[in-house]
Amino acid sequence: MRWRRTLRHVVIFWNVLAPFAAITLVLGSYTWLGLAVVVVGHAMWLTSTMIPSCQWCGEVVTSLAQARGDGDSAGAEGQDKEVWLTIDDGPHPEDTPHLLDLLDAHQAKATFFFIGAHAKKHRKLVRQVIKRGHEVANHTMNHPQYWFWAYGPGAADREMDECQKVLGDVADVTPRWFRAPAGFKNPIVQRHAEKTGMRVVGWSARGRDGVVTDKEQVLQRLYSEIRPGGIILMHEGRVADNGGRLAPQVLGALLEWLGKNGYRCVVP
Ligand SMILES: [Zn+2]
Repeated sequence: MRWRRTLRHVVIFWNVLAPFAAITLVLGSYTWLGLAVVVVGHAMWLTSTMIPSCQWCGEVVTSLAQARGDGDSAGAEGQDKEVWLTIDDGPHPEDTPHLLDLLDAHQAKATFFFIGAHAKKHRKLVRQVIKRGHEVANHTMNHPQYWFWAYGPGAADREMDECQKVLGDVADVTPRWFRAPAGFKNPIVQRHAEKTGMRVVGWSARGRDGVVTDKEQVLQRLYSEIRPGGIILMHEGRVADNGGRLAPQVLGALLEWLGKNGYRCVVP
């Protein structure tokens, strides 16, 4: 949407020019005005970056309908009971094969947001995912989760481009979806995603399995947030409280629950 691009340009230029404007204002004895210019710029930048579903500076897909281009809103009532299952942080040799078997057993499809460095190490798993009818997507090359929000054009572009290249080389695909580590996508990231033909994807239901390792806690939170047309977020690569692998345990129970409640897992 054009207004988002315009607002993004405003936010980027505001933050580039703010320090010069502030110095000029402070030297002219307009100290408070100078501070206000900087604070407003930072507030706009950080809100857009740190709230994963904030779409001020670029689109963030948060529903199946939006992914399909049927509108911007989250899963409206009366929609088919479909959900988009998205799984981050793989491929992982101890999780991905089990996840694939579970998905097959329930005739469910998913999108795997892969980390480029992991994909490079586990090429066979990437090809397996595609062969079995799922989609792979871009989740950066190295998953710099603590600092990606603060990355400037050079570093952010590299993280996205290198992952895209690895997935292209390994599986001959051009991913069309991008998800930032922890969902923190600054205006620079959104600009680069648009430029390279990727759409930024968020979520509408998550069990916090990136930090919570209790399977039941993860599942209860997911169940309370799942709605028709929603996007479910899961993670690979974690060990559960009970010592087993978290993702296969969660996915097994989740697919049972979705089936019982009349949901189908589809890829847009
Ligand atoms: Zn991640």
